[in-house]
Amino acid sequence: MARRFMENEVAAATPEMEATGMLSMELMREMGRLGLLGTFFPEKYGGGGFTITSRAIVSEEMARINAGLDISIFADIVLFARAIARHGTEEQKQKYLEPVLRGEKIGSMAITEPKGGSDALSARSQARRDGDDYIVNGHKIFITNSPVADFILVIARTDGKDREINGGTWFILERGVDGLSTSKPFEKLGMKSSPTGEVFIDNVRVPAENILGEVNRGFYYLMESLDVERVLEGASNIGIAQACLDAAAKYAQERVVFGKRISQYQLIQEKIAEMATGIELSRTMLYRLMRAVEREEVVTCEAAMLKLYSSRMAVQASSDAIQIFGGNGYMEEYPVARYYRDAKHHEIGAGTTEIQKIIIAREILKQYGSA
Ligand SMILES: Cc1cc2nc3c(=O)[nH]c(=O)nc-3n(C[C@H](O)[C@H](O)[C@H](O)COP(=O)(O)OP(=O)(O)OC[C@H]3O[C@@H](n4cnc5c(N)ncnc54)[C@H](O)[C@@H]3O)c2cc1C
Repeated sequence: MARRFMENEVAAATPEMEATGMLSMELMREMGRLGLLGTFFPEKYGGGGFTITSRAIVSEEMARINAGLDISIFADIVLFARAIARHGTEEQKQKYLEPVLRGEKIGSMAITEPKGGSDALSARSQARRDGDDYIVNGHKIFITNSPVADFILVIARTDGKDREINGGTWFILERGVDGLSTSKPFEKLGMKSSPTGEVFIDNVRVPAENILGEVNRGFYYLMESLDVERVLEGASNIGIAQACLDAAAKYAQERVVFGKRISQYQLIQEKIAEMATGIELSRTMLYRLMRAVEREEVVTCEAAMLKLYSSRMAVQASSDAIQIFGGNGYMEEYPVARYYRDAKHHEIGAGTTEIQKIIIAREILKQYGSA
């Protein structure tokens, strides 16, 4: 069902979303109605009651057709809604989770600041207590969905020193509150269907009922969720690479050069073989890790490995797909140029390639004593 929906409805809506840089709310509501957004949330809140592996399946199918929509749903569902489901009160779940799972409202999560995203603990946004409320100030950047989001989950320091893991708190901000504003969407290299922008928080008064989870535990929640997010990003990379393989293999069997179909040339076959192997290895690791995630095992090192490997694999697959298309690949008339632009995002978002290597080396060296 997910594949059919992506190949029909999402494919049809993609040219307009890419051109306008905006999500289609009609599509969001339809996905909500069909249960494609909330697959792994409790049925009580309108979810499907499946395991989180269901998200990987939907994400791979979605990224194969529109990787920009996939990262917007990632921010909406995996970042925002999952945080509310894990740490929210009953009232917060009813108020924020249910409309997001129905596709009626959009959520986003704001961590990155202009001074840097890799070092999340050095976030400068601050919140100070004022009676039962908090007054929040800060500036967030590169926030997926922020130009259109109804709800923005923002992390700000409520205690502790710079870079201390204690002292971060999550606040649920609703569009329309005094002091909260968002920028226009950025012009980006790729992921054009997904609006990305800035969030300006200027003396926003937040009542206690809009604090998510415990005060000062926010950075712990963030660190706990990163592994799952990185594993799920593997599905997005596989989706992009699969789209590259589908397009390139078909084109190679049709295009005739020097009197032969280019699929008969071994240099072209090599690219097809590399793409298919990278996809298969990534997919095998993805579903092994999804089972580990379902058992709540810690997969910090393996999640970073999957993100590192699969993002590089998707970038290479998209480059090879363009090469197989030749000049046509460079033209917007064919989809492989979009795959190439989109793939690059996953070497940056949710932790860069360099950060994944640092995590892997740290975890491996621990097994041999300390670095
Ligand atoms: C399209 C898009 C959507 C995004 N959506 C969101 C979102 O929804 N919410 C959100 O909070 N953020 C979001 N981000 C931000 C993203 O998470 C950050 O861009 C990313 O974490 C990197 O942070 P930075 O851009 O500040 O780079 P920096 O942290 O400034 O890093 C710059 C370079 O230095 C390297 N580097 C940093 N530290 C080290 C080190 N110790 N050793 C070696 N190299 C290092 C990095 O790998 C990188 O190559 C999004 C970004 C993009 C592009």
